[in-house]
Amino acid sequence: MHADMVLINIGEVVTPPGPGPRRGRAQAELRRIPDAVIAIRQGQVTWVGPRTAWEGKATAEVDVGAAAVVPGLVDPHTHAIWAGDRLNDFEARAQGVSYEAILAAGGGIYQTIRHTAGASVETLVALARPRLERLLRSGVTTVEVKSGYGLTPEGEIAMLRAAARLQDEVPMTVVPTLLIHVPPREGREAYVEEVVTSLIPKVAREKLAVAVDVFVEQEAFTVAEAERILRSAQRHGLACKLHADQFHVLGGVELGVRLGALSVDHLEASGEAQWRALAESQTVATVLPGVTLHLGGTPANGRALVDAGAAVAVATDLNPGSSPLFSAQMALALAVRLNGLTPAEALTAATANAAIALGFQDRGWIGPGSRADILVLNARDWRELPYALGADDLIQAVYVAGQPVWSRE
Ligand SMILES: [Zn+2]
Repeated sequence: MHADMVLINIGEVVTPPGPGPRRGRAQAELRRIPDAVIAIRQGQVTWVGPRTAWEGKATAEVDVGAAAVVPGLVDPHTHAIWAGDRLNDFEARAQGVSYEAILAAGGGIYQTIRHTAGASVETLVALARPRLERLLRSGVTTVEVKSGYGLTPEGEIAMLRAAARLQDEVPMTVVPTLLIHVPPREGREAYVEEVVTSLIPKVAREKLAVAVDVFVEQEAFTVAEAERILRSAQRHGLACKLHADQFHVLGGVELGVRLGALSVDHLEASGEAQWRALAESQTVATVLPGVTLHLGGTPANGRALVDAGAAVAVATDLNPGSSPLFSAQMALALAVRLNGLTPAEALTAATANAAIALGFQDRGWIGPGSRADILVLNARDWRELPYALGADDLIQAVYVAGQPVWSRE
């Protein structure tokens, strides 16, 4: 066997044993290979196993100095494109001002929409690039980026064009999602009509997104509106996702399951019925601990979801208002503290299951046939990854499709 490159002197490779989704107890099963070698050819892993069993040859050898190696992280839910900031909101909230009062004073999400909708594609790209670079340094090799602050069809399309441009500027895979986020303050019926009859067909035609997401909540869209929007997405060959059960259980989870959504995200307010519905479905349950950390409130019960048999993923939900979390490693670590996952379950949540939440079978694990998305840790034990909080030197090197795209030196 001849490889383009081999990673040698790996202290341990720790990975989900194959592609996701990994559900229930299987989510905790990891393959651990001490003293390992990984062989890569044309961007794919061709062989992984103990050093003593490696008999192939390679054009290049990289000695990783006995470091632990895990799959590249997948961040399946971000709003990384925005303009303006929410620093005043943050300070006001910390001083005890209510979210309603902040909204009434012109802050909150409509402030982000005002700034974002007024920005050029160039500006949006320039603002988002350093955010994605921060995620890359936290180990992200595939990232989802949602629209949703454009509000008007033109604004949403500008955000998606910015996402497409970002793909040329950052080394990780950028997956664009059209998010129908909040209705306009007036004329919501006409807005949904325009989304269904004009925006979604255009986005599908121009391949500006691979999925459509709808925020189902009292302040956002109803289940009936979301169903209309997502059925249109499906008719146009786009996958479905939902923001559901963040504050209220309104039926968004059940809708996602019924439509075969890739994932339903948030789930803070979900209970037994929703956990069971997700466990009996193909839909990934994505938890967002950064929101819980930033806003307070009840975390999504990842423990109950896994115990019920669901496939749980974790994401940063990077956004200016509710989750200014620039590290997927930190999201993984918070899933242990806030969502009740074990370290092994959290690794699967941030890799194999997060990949499935974006429709990818070929990443989030390390084995023959996987894309060679690999993190070399600045640690000999992989558990430093879920353990450390705020360590900015935990990732030694990031490989995307076999290419070294970032390293600490
Ligand atoms: Zn979100």
